[in-house]
Order: sequence, then structure tokens, then C-alpha cells
Amino acid sequence: MRIVLVGPPGAGKGTQAAYLAENLSIPHVSTGDLFRANIGQGTALGKQAQEYMNAGELVPDEVTIGMAKDRLDQPDAAEGFLLDGFPRNLAQAEALDQILAERGAHLDGVLDLEIPEDQVVQRIAGRRTCRTDSAHTFHVDHKRPQVAGRCDECGGELYQRADDSEETVRKRLEVYHRETEPIIGFYQAKGLVVTISAMGRVAEVTERAMDALRTKAA
Ligand code: AMP
Repeated sequence: MRIVLVGPPGAGKGTQAAYLAENLSIPHVSTGDLFRANIGQGTALGKQAQEYMNAGELVPDEVTIGMAKDRLDQPDAAEGFLLDGFPRNLAQAEALDQILAERGAHLDGVLDLEIPEDQVVQRIAGRRTCRTDSAHTFHVDHKRPQVAGRCDECGGELYQRADDSEETVRKRLEVYHRETEPIIGFYQAKGLVVTISAMGRVAEVTERAMDALRTKAA
């Protein structure tokens, strides 16, 4: 299956993507994680991306599209993938169509995670992320780790992402409405979108998402 996950920051895309990719046995491809890995390794690409990320802006398309294409060219993505955080604007959506068309492939569905706006800032500003695996996230009020500052799942160090401050979250939301939301209409016109609520427990949302994708693929 070839799936795109969309939704505002704080909808839980990364967490859901990790579970869904595992359930569907396809790789989880997150452009945000790819950028963070490049920053961690101090690559030229990481240096180009960092400034935009810290400001809550989109990294320019010429950097992002090339990186996404390279990742989708890896053998593990040949038969399917779950894209998390890409595409994030219409130019990227069109580029993805072209990448897939060159291979005679197409998307099977676009899963749109919905969350009320007032939940977003609260969810993200309290989020703490594991340095070892960014799908492991905690919350200062709602999901505290058993040992302060340590991931329950792998013992990795927890930190607050530089782009998770309240000010940057508001900027990211504005960018989401302006740049990313239009891709939902683009994919609706192709009959690909299924929308589910991202509210509730993680496992409930995963279940809802799996049901929606099964219905879409049927
Ligand atoms: P995420 O982990 O998906 O929330 O992404 C974190 C940040 O990485 C975003 O706020 C952007 O600055 C950058 N980023 C991730 N994916 C993309 C993309 N497809 N296009 C442009 N910038 C991106």
C-alpha cells in the first residue's frame, strides 16, 4: 500500500505512522525524521534545513523533494510506504505524483487526521520526544515517563524539540493552513481522502485509522 498521512502539527502523525507502518508491513517515511537525522549527523542538507525547521517554516522544495525521492528509491519502499509529513504543499504533491507515475505506481489512500485547533498548542508545547526514536513521545501533563527525562520504551533521553515551543507551534499551524491544507482538496478530487478524528487514546486512533484504510483499499 502507498499511503500519505496528513494532519496539523500535534495530530499524532508520527506516533500513528509508526504503528500503522508496522501493522501494514511497509516503511514509515518521515521527512521530518530524515531532516532531524541529517541535522544530527551534521550534513550539508541538515545545515540547510535547520534554520527553516527552527522557525517553523517549510524547508524549500528543491531540498525536500530530492530527499524524499532518494528515500522512496530505496528497495524497501518499492512495494509500499507510509509517508508522514510529505507532501506538505501542492508542488510536493505534484512531484510525488510524477515520481510514482515514472514507476507506474499510484497512491492507495490519503489519511487525514483531524484535531480541534485548541488541542494542538496544548499537545505540542508539552510534548517531550525521545532522541533515540522520535515515534516515542511523552507529555508533561498527560503522559509522563516513569523515570523523569527517560523514554519508557527504550531508555533514550527525552527532550523538547526546538520547533515545539508555543511560538513556533503557532507558526507551524499557520503554515499548515496556508500550504498543506490545499493538498487535501487536491487528493479529494482524486477520491483518495479518508478523514478520521485524531482524538482519544493512541490505540483507538490506530484502530480507527486501520478500519478507514481497509475500507479505502476494499
Ligand atoms: P515534522 O517532524 O513532520 O513535524 O517536521 C518538522 C519540520 O521539518 C517542519 O516544521 C518543516 O520545517 C520540516 N519539514 C518536514 N517535512 C517537510 C516537507 N515535506 N516540506 C518542507 N519542510 C518539511
